Amino acid sequence: MPNFVIPTPPVASLPVAGSEASFPVRRVYCIGRNYAAHAIEMGHDPDREPPFFFQKNPDNLDVSGEFPYPDHSNDVHHEVEMLVALKSGGRNIQLGDALDHVYGYGVALDMTRRDLQGEMKKMGRPWEIGKAFERSAPAGPVYPVSAVGHPTSGLVQLKVNGEVRQEGDLNQMIWKVPEMISYLSEYFELSAGDVILSGTPSGVGPVARGDSMEASVEGLGTLSLSVT
Ligand code: MN
Repeated sequence: MPNFVIPTPPVASLPVAGSEASFPVRRVYCIGRNYAAHAIEMGHDPDREPPFFFQKNPDNLDVSGEFPYPDHSNDVHHEVEMLVALKSGGRNIQLGDALDHVYGYGVALDMTRRDLQGEMKKMGRPWEIGKAFERSAPAGPVYPVSAVGHPTSGLVQLKVNGEVRQEGDLNQMIWKVPEMISYLSEYFELSAGDVILSGTPSGVGPVARGDSMEASVEGLGTLSLSVT
């Protein structure tokens, strides 16, 4: 161990469902426009173009059950997504091997300062200011593959104040989990602790302070959050 000159930053982690143990997080990759209906609502062609990814920071993950409304935005949107947690990685992972690298799955939100993201898109600038802000990735526990297998279908839903806002099915993902892992591994060296947010179905929209959100993926529990 090096002798660090400042206290070492904490390792970001997610709880593991049914266990006292935690899943340590190294990187957070997010895929864009992975459901046709969401691509259309954002003004894009839903055709199967190559996938694209952006990143959030590991410490943007938040399991507190609270989402503090961030500054500098009047249009913060919910995006409910399935989280994929990797137990191993590598480069140029073949499609047929990709699922061997998955530790488990969970529910997460890709909270987005849509107004700031929109300005960045217009100027051709990076999206971090819209996507990778503090506590922008509320998440639930990771369910190990040993308990839930590899979900390929099932309801993905988000309610605000009890009203359904987003609804889709995992089987509608344009790029499936093995394809995302294989594709990412061509461009990045994947590793144990990497997580992938697998894209959101249609119905994204704004939240306000005082709202309650319930995000769920069938078989992976429900994440309840208050916007504060
Ligand atoms: Mn997203």
